[in-house]
Amino acid sequence: MESGKINIKSKEGEFNQNSYVVEYKDSCILIDAGVRYDEIKKITNKPILAVMLTHGHFDHIEYIEEYDRKKIPIYASAYTKNAINDPKLNASYMFGSKVYKVSKINELKDDKIIKIGEFEIKSLSTPGHTRDSVCYLIGDKLFSGDTLFSDSIGRYDFIDSSKQDMLKSLLKLDDLDYLELYPGHGRASNKEEQNQNIKRWITILNRF
Ligand SMILES: [Zn+2]
Repeated sequence: MESGKINIKSKEGEFNQNSYVVEYKDSCILIDAGVRYDEIKKITNKPILAVMLTHGHFDHIEYIEEYDRKKIPIYASAYTKNAINDPKLNASYMFGSKVYKVSKINELKDDKIIKIGEFEIKSLSTPGHTRDSVCYLIGDKLFSGDTLFSDSIGRYDFIDSSKQDMLKSLLKLDDLDYLELYPGHGRASNKEEQNQNIKRWITILNRF
């Protein structure tokens, strides 16, 4: 893919979660489903080829059933299947306990490139925040879900969190080549800036 031709639009959901429309040539994909289908269609007129979930927390999958009803394929970690059915794993027990029903989840294999239309998407398994956390590298852009934020990292105190996994995942992202960072919450960032943020957190996790 030609990184210069990738166009990114972001939209915040009710829980300040970013969903990203990634446009390339005549189509687009959606990273996370925290925003209604109709709202996403207001910011892109390109057909949505797929929804790629960064993990199964309720704020990132809130409207997943709408996309499923539109027959848009859903991709996620194999572990996300458990999360969407379990209010403890999807963290919705704090907000009325939700169970999400979708017809099918296409399970991602670790660190493989998948082709969807003209998209080539590398999915990186990055457990820590949750067991099912995935980051996506598209061209030179990294979509980091709740693993890595511009000024911080994701929480690692949920029921299926792991501090040790988080440390390994941060080391993996520290080694990765990318230019721009699009996290699951907050502002965008870049690799240069992350050289400081991510290293600071690696030091903190190693120490405590
Ligand atoms: Zn989360």
